[in-house]
Amino acid sequence: MKITEIRLGMLRVPLKTPFKTALRTVDTVEDIVVEVHTDSGHVGYGEAAPTAVITGDTHGSIIEAIRRVIGPRLIGREVADLNRNVALVQSAMERNTSAKAAVEIALYDLFAQLYGAPLYRVLGGGGDPVVTTDITISVDYIDKMVADSLAAVERGFESLKIKVGKDIGVDIERVKAIHSAVDGRALLRLDANQGWTPKQAVRAVSTLEDAGVALELLEQPVHARDIEGLKYVTERVLTPVMADESVFGPAEVIDLIQRRAADIINIKLMKTGGISNAVRIADIAAVYGVECMIGCMIESSISVAAAVHLAIAKGGAITKVDLDGPSLCRFNPVDGGVEFNESEISVGDAPGLGIRGIRGLEAIPA
Ligand code: MG
Repeated sequence: MKITEIRLGMLRVPLKTPFKTALRTVDTVEDIVVEVHTDSGHVGYGEAAPTAVITGDTHGSIIEAIRRVIGPRLIGREVADLNRNVALVQSAMERNTSAKAAVEIALYDLFAQLYGAPLYRVLGGGGDPVVTTDITISVDYIDKMVADSLAAVERGFESLKIKVGKDIGVDIERVKAIHSAVDGRALLRLDANQGWTPKQAVRAVSTLEDAGVALELLEQPVHARDIEGLKYVTERVLTPVMADESVFGPAEVIDLIQRRAADIINIKLMKTGGISNAVRIADIAAVYGVECMIGCMIESSISVAAAVHLAIAKGGAITKVDLDGPSLCRFNPVDGGVEFNESEISVGDAPGLGIRGIRGLEAIPA
């Protein structure tokens, strides 16, 4: 099975409700889809989310990176030569992690198709192919956040990822109100998306802890580059602290763990540049006995499917799942693939990612 062509498309899927964090507001998935075609007729699929405020990737940069820099290295190469193909992707250019992720996902999809097995099996997973995700509660007026939280609990979600990081006084009230409304029916994960200073974060979490609000974790309270600030918070609160925007690749994870700057690592394929580095991070975390979450950007069920396969294969290290991208979408544009049913995500027996086609994909002309 040889790679013959790489095609790009634009996928647009409206969200059920706007996604609001301390960094941005988004109301539509607008992701670049990669199709890697082969001489056997098999097609591998990948997806890149343009998250300029986190990874620096935009539609234009993703298209240019794949079309001019990464893609040409792969034409004519054997799908079976996965490790070398992945090395070619990773060494093609600096950063551009979302573009690399999209291409890598398609290469892994094809590799698993070549051997006729679902991707999670090729990655060494053999257990029950089901994971349970949380759902994001966007930052908003308190009443709206409480209503959204109750609706999510009614839909069967048992973990809520509450977005905060705006005004700290209101943030504390937001979390208290949600905590009393859901009344023990859901675990609460707080994501401040870099919105607090280290001292504010300690104050906010200490206030909540003292008020009896049990939090499962606090995610990225401080600025991405402020590793010392992250460590300051981790040392001073009982609630586990998770690093998200602060860590992209394996080397940063090693540094973070050795400095004890966070308790948990949030792995996202759009930060790691795809599956190969995500596997490395899960393995590094396992060496140190550190837990990981698998998360996603505003992504549909193509790249999130890859994250699901990884989560199943690396379930020993990846103990928390935040893959709510598809359940935030108004419809699922993918035929076949992983089944997203609210909080329950399950994988079938189809080879690779199991994707048969993508509806509404707009070709991006060469
Ligand atoms: Mg986050």
